[in-house]
Amino acid sequence: MKTDVQIAQEAKMLPISEMAKYLEIKEEELELYGKYKAKVSLDVLSRLEDKPDGKLILVTAINPTPAGEGKTTVNVGLSMGLNKIGKKTITALREPSLGPVFGIKGGAAGGGYSQVVPMEDINLHFTGDFHAITSAHNLLAALLDNHIHQGNALHIDPKKVIWKRVMDMNDRALRNVVIGLGGKYDGVMRESGFDITVASEIMAILCLSSSLTDLKERLSRMVVAYTYEGKVITAEELGATGAMALLLKDAIMPNLVQTIENTPAFIHGGPFANIAHGCNSVMATKIGLKLADYVVTEAGFGADLGAEKFFDIKSRYANLQPSATVIVATIRALKMNGGVAKAELAHENLAALDAGIVNLERHLENLAKFGVPTVVAINQFPTDTELEIERLKERCAAKGVDVILTDVFRKGGEGAVDLAHKVVEICETKTSTYAPLYDVDNSIEEKIKTIATEIYRAEQVEYTPAARKQITEIVALGLDKLPICMAKTQYSFSDNPTLLGAPTGFTLTVRELKVSAGAGFIVALTGSIMTMPGLPKTPAANGMDINENREIIGLS
Ligand code: ADP
Ligand code: MG
Repeated sequence: MKTDVQIAQEAKMLPISEMAKYLEIKEEELELYGKYKAKVSLDVLSRLEDKPDGKLILVTAINPTPAGEGKTTVNVGLSMGLNKIGKKTITALREPSLGPVFGIKGGAAGGGYSQVVPMEDINLHFTGDFHAITSAHNLLAALLDNHIHQGNALHIDPKKVIWKRVMDMNDRALRNVVIGLGGKYDGVMRESGFDITVASEIMAILCLSSSLTDLKERLSRMVVAYTYEGKVITAEELGATGAMALLLKDAIMPNLVQTIENTPAFIHGGPFANIAHGCNSVMATKIGLKLADYVVTEAGFGADLGAEKFFDIKSRYANLQPSATVIVATIRALKMNGGVAKAELAHENLAALDAGIVNLERHLENLAKFGVPTVVAINQFPTDTELEIERLKERCAAKGVDVILTDVFRKGGEGAVDLAHKVVEICETKTSTYAPLYDVDNSIEEKIKTIATEIYRAEQVEYTPAARKQITEIVALGLDKLPICMAKTQYSFSDNPTLLGAPTGFTLTVRELKVSAGAGFIVALTGSIMTMPGLPKTPAANGMDINENREIIGLS
């Protein structure tokens, strides 16, 4: 089979203006970025205010293996399958980060015959949104350090600055740095560090904002430091809001591209799925719902993290009404959850499959708690055997859930026609009674307990003394009535990445709480969560090249 980049480069793309015409986007609402990329003005939303929304489909997954379960690939394939059966559909995804592209995971534009294109642009600089977010974030950092240098009228304690700098690269050497070295005119010396751009609160804000005004309000509320007296300092107090919004004026508009089968796709925003909510922008999703019958969107990591935050944070804030959930599973990952080593995954192993299906079953029970009808999509690999597939179908039938085979990686939209029919059937015959899991007005501990016991099935929740102190501080600030954004390993329901399957009886330890006052959530950190990843021993970057004919090698 051809490589992802070969398949992508052979795709017959339509000029993006034609894609826009098909969606009935007006010429003045379209900002072209070359032939195959465009930004779409938020004016579409006000123009179509009275038009009913299309159906929103969430793609999520079981707990993944380190390679990913194929959510994006199935998301793209399903949207193409829906188009094939005559449903006007838009794919809505996150923008890839350069960190994983050059690190270990690779790009995030799908795979095989289910990709969004131009994949090389989408996976690299695209329309500059990440640059704009990086710049806005670092402008605020510069204004803050300059304020301290210029006399520090606000009394900012240099030891209590929480706003770091960001860069869109996996670079562990920047995790901890000392800034302000040198003489009197070189700034005030203090310890700081870098996060990856997708971990910036500004990324989360961009993705949760519903308008430019909302974006500015959220930016102004961001907490950046504390004074010597313990008072909070916000971005607004540093006079940074206007300039940051200015830097983000284009980044706020969703990017329109297409799949290799010419299905329209919005690729916009890409917050980390651990310390943020892991979903594409609200604006892209909302515009998509106005322009199409169906919008298929993805939430990062497994359903314990991604779907929970999609329902409890994104859908709650944006008043979305999801109609159906597709949970992607691979036979390989189920066997891995059943205890099989990575090297043995290609062999038939019904016992391991049986042992691992508990992971999927628990996700199904969890998803039912949000009231949205669910279907299981098997993302097929050539190594899956018929017996294994039959076993999985039997077990899901016992839970009253359908299982549909998809082969979108090898067949594109054709490989998801059955899934598309099933999704349409669900949307037309079943009612979604979507509701978030918890009330935001509950206490921080109650909200965390609900997620920990209902979704993760922890026995109990423990807090470190530091976390307890932070809860008291958040309550004192009056910021405790916000949704919780859990930061947890994606590999396990628990906070221990080695507990696969469906663990019970464990204690979830919350070691730190951080309020993202602009984004509008409280991050509860468990385990060791990396906000600046490192590169592996052999980074994907080492296998990449471009030749004189502009042929690209090694991007996937
Ligand atoms: P996720 O969105 O769940 O992280 P992706 O869709 O990005 O996962 O897929 C992860 C990787 O696995 C990608 O490189 C993709 O091309 C590859 N992949 C996905 N599905 C298949 C499949 N059925 N066969 C082979 N490779 C696949
Ligand atoms: Mg993905």
